[in-house]
Amino acid sequence: MRYELMLPHQIRKAIAENRPVVLPLGVLEYHGEHMAVGMDTLAVVKSLELFEKEAEIVILPPFYYGAASYAVAAPEGSGSVQVGGNVLAPFAEELFYSLLRIGFRNIHAIIHHQTENFAAGMPTDLAFKAAGRQAMFRFLEKERGEGWWGSPAMADYYAEHDEGSNFFNWVQVHPLMPASMHSRYPFDHAGTGETSLMLALCPEAVDAGRFADNTGWYTASAPEASAELGQKGVAMILEHLRATLSG
Ligand SMILES: [Zn+2]
Repeated sequence: MRYELMLPHQIRKAIAENRPVVLPLGVLEYHGEHMAVGMDTLAVVKSLELFEKEAEIVILPPFYYGAASYAVAAPEGSGSVQVGGNVLAPFAEELFYSLLRIGFRNIHAIIHHQTENFAAGMPTDLAFKAAGRQAMFRFLEKERGEGWWGSPAMADYYAEHDEGSNFFNWVQVHPLMPASMHSRYPFDHAGTGETSLMLALCPEAVDAGRFADNTGWYTASAPEASAELGQKGVAMILEHLRATLSG
């Protein structure tokens, strides 16, 4: 279900059923001469569209304006859009806080950009992770008042935490491709792995006629891409989404 198309009674039902509410998160970044700049975000959007066919999830309008960085290419004529993490964090906090106010308690952002370092974090995912934490503390304090955690009502906190019920899970950020996938599928930037994913998920974002125009080391493997390999990656991504986005 697309959030922007939902009626209030559908939103109330999604809240009551604790359905996952998912933000596709990414960037606009140069991905060689053969691939569209929206690749990272499109991979998330298209994967979620497939997952939506088998699961009751709410998909928020995607956020494309993450911190692409100019590490791959300077922006002039390349198309990379860079918005720094320090600017993203306040925006993301307001967004998550607002979703908590609406009543959602199963909020996720899925990102595909620089996620080979997801455990340590990179500017976009760190900004959204920190924002989620900030929003939850702010929300709980507004809802329950200062001293809420220390109150007698919270005496079972650690026991409940061990059982997995934890309001700090209300907002979570995940990579589209988990670390466990890295040994099974090529993780790259605009190489075989990403190009194959696009051929499988969004073929209009790839122009094979432009492979020869590439000069970067990272695009050298792109011509070996295939929709068939991409489908294998998509199957692994869907498996990961099934495990991650539970109701
Ligand atoms: Zn990418």
